[in-house]
Amino acid sequence: MPNTSKHTTLVDRFGRTVDYIRLSVTDRCDFRCVYCMAENMTFLPHAQVLSLEEIEQVAAAFVGLGVKKIRLTGGEPLVRRDVIKLIRGVGQLDAELSITTNGSQLLDMATDLKSAGVNRLNISIDSLRADRFKEMTRTGKLAQVLAGIDAAVKIGFDRIKLNTVVMKGRNDDEVLDLVEYARDAGVDISFIEEMPLGNISEHDRAKVYCSSDEVSALISERYQLEPTTERTAGPSRYYRMQDSESRVGFISPHSHNFCSECNRVRVTVEGRLLLCLGNEHSVDLRETLRQYPDDIERLQQVIVKAMDLKPEKHEFDLDEEPQIVRFMNMTGG
Ligand code: SAM
Ligand code: SF4
Repeated sequence: MPNTSKHTTLVDRFGRTVDYIRLSVTDRCDFRCVYCMAENMTFLPHAQVLSLEEIEQVAAAFVGLGVKKIRLTGGEPLVRRDVIKLIRGVGQLDAELSITTNGSQLLDMATDLKSAGVNRLNISIDSLRADRFKEMTRTGKLAQVLAGIDAAVKIGFDRIKLNTVVMKGRNDDEVLDLVEYARDAGVDISFIEEMPLGNISEHDRAKVYCSSDEVSALISERYQLEPTTERTAGPSRYYRMQDSESRVGFISPHSHNFCSECNRVRVTVEGRLLLCLGNEHSVDLRETLRQYPDDIERLQQVIVKAMDLKPEKHEFDLDEEPQIVRFMNMTGG
């Protein structure tokens, strides 16, 4: 895959530089997490989904425009057939490569991911109790995910971070256990406030809302959290504990709006360039990709122009019907 020679920086109307992309490689998943999907989902027909070659082309176009970090996500990226082939291609681009995964395939795939060029892994885990884990993912097996995390830790990536969506009455009583687990494994952990994406019937999002400040208070019962100025490319605010290398992060779309520092855009597996997680502003890249298959410069022109559509911020309201009807598995979290 050619890396383009043109090096433009992507900047939006509010002066924010976009140097980070999240590419969804599938909308499908082997789990049905209660906050992410409805129990019965209809997935995209294959014809609407970008091919692996098209996804790689999109990645190369963005890197040619100055993007420095690529995250592959989904749905569950590791259930897409031949995903390692894609990862090998994207891994050769001049950008840091990370993956967000539910961990179900990691035991078998961690070695290949590392050799394909993955630098960082985010692994989602919301409970350490097998029955509850099953309830929250509807289909997931905790033991499989724990074995996957273990394998990834042993192989050693530049960074491994756990992601936990905290919901009152569902898993807020496990916050400290999850911190202990992260400390023992020597990995970081971020706690996420649930976002109102897609219509779910499982729980009332306003009722289970657990703010990052509440999560922080729970952790402070055992550990003093010291704020750091450390940032990764993402929206996490990080804290350290005195006696551990593990960092605790908070992703707080409701309580600490991070839009002014937003440096990213997303591409869905249909090739829709989404300018904001909490808004519908988007541009169809698939049309350009399919009409002009090898014209990367044309694709780049479309991307550069799309930056003008990036909204200033998201407005999430948990008491309203979701303003964003797409589920998180479409968006690529
Ligand atoms: N399947 C992979 C996984 O679960 O890690 C990658 C895709 S998933 C959509 C990416 C992240 O989004 C996960 O950490 C998940 O917990 C989070 N997520 C999904 N739905 C969410 C929601 N409604 N609010 C906040 N985070 C959500
Ligand atoms: Fe699948 Fe990830 Fe959504 Fe859970 S959060 S249903 S693992 S895409």
